[in-house]
Amino acid sequence: MFPFSYTTVPDVDAAVRAGRSGGRYIAGGTTLVDLMRETVERPDTLVDISALPLTGITSIPGGGLRLGALARMADVAADPAVRDAYPVVAQALELSASPQLRNMATIGGNIMQRTRCSYFRDVSAACNKRAPGSGCAAQEGYNRAHAILGTSDACVATHPSDLAVALAALDARVHTRGPDGDRTVPFADFHLLPGATPDREQDLRPGELIVAVEVPPHPRPLASGYLKVRDRQSYEFALTSAAVALHVQGGVIRAAGVAAGGVGTVPWRLRAVEQHLVGRRPADGLWAAAAERAAEGARPLAHNGFKVDLLRRTVERQLRIVGGGS
Ligand SMILES: Cc1cc2nc3c(=O)[nH]c(=O)nc-3n(C[C@H](O)[C@H](O)[C@H](O)COP(=O)(O)OP(=O)(O)OC[C@H]3O[C@@H](n4cnc5c(N)ncnc54)[C@H](O)[C@@H]3O)c2cc1C
Ligand code: SF4
Repeated sequence: MFPFSYTTVPDVDAAVRAGRSGGRYIAGGTTLVDLMRETVERPDTLVDISALPLTGITSIPGGGLRLGALARMADVAADPAVRDAYPVVAQALELSASPQLRNMATIGGNIMQRTRCSYFRDVSAACNKRAPGSGCAAQEGYNRAHAILGTSDACVATHPSDLAVALAALDARVHTRGPDGDRTVPFADFHLLPGATPDREQDLRPGELIVAVEVPPHPRPLASGYLKVRDRQSYEFALTSAAVALHVQGGVIRAAGVAAGGVGTVPWRLRAVEQHLVGRRPADGLWAAAAERAAEGARPLAHNGFKVDLLRRTVERQLRIVGGGS
């Protein structure tokens, strides 16, 4: 380890003041402490936000839910309103990490977690995300777990969060408070593509604190669910995953939200799949035809070409599970 100072804060505004002065927020600590131990991250000051009153899970007038940034993953997964309205959120959380981690880790920390790229976590390896301009060891290295969508010459790392995939499919919004006041960021804009600056990962300004994530109202009935494919059945990040939310009325798909994990440098929204679904009747052949479009634009690397077909199959299977059919 290395020396750093640690401070607690009495309220959100004090947290923002501390953040503006260069402090680094720590919530559950399940990711940040790991990275500090490995010296991948070396913050001078930790601002402990874990006691702030941002744990509520509340209904929004007109539908939808507001999840406090410090709500624990386990509490959100178990919440009856979440399970009833948005099973895709509960399932994504339940398939994340381990029960012990979910009891500690928070919603805000989850969508802020950094990639699991092994070269990023190895301080002796070249990594543009960790050390801008140093190169990317994964391009020519072992890249089985890496992204096939949204990659750049500078970085091919996947975004690891399961919850973020569910939130992408639901058009969530991120509420922040910063030195310049409150902001709301659409989820689709929150995570940044790596481009030439993979070290810039979110649309967060200096000192900005996530205070809540909002899932907006959706037409009912909304059928939804999350499927995760991984190397082992527990305690493992996704090779591919699919979050699906479908609104079917009068036998026709009126609205569809579909997103994928394990394949993109950011939680990956599958707009082409959605476009194929909306206005059509659920049918056996429809799921496969829509899923065919899931990997459009994919750029496989030396060791992860299998993800192209696995992604299509994961999406097709989850469309069938949520939408019905054999
Ligand atoms: C062994 C292991 C397996 C895992 N498996 C999975 C998995 O399968 N799927 C999955 O999705 N995740 C998985 N995770 C990741 C886990 O879900 C995250 O570690 C956790 O969600 C992070 O939340 P936290 O509150 O502990 O964040 P912290 O570690 O406290 O913080 C993480 C980052 O978020 C920032 N941050 C935290 N809160 C805020 C806020 N309110 N505003 C602004 N910035 C903030 C911190 O500054 C830090 O940069 C795994 C983790 C481990 C260790
Ligand atoms: S893929 Fe991204 S995170 Fe991994 S080594 Fe390359 S630059 Fe670093």
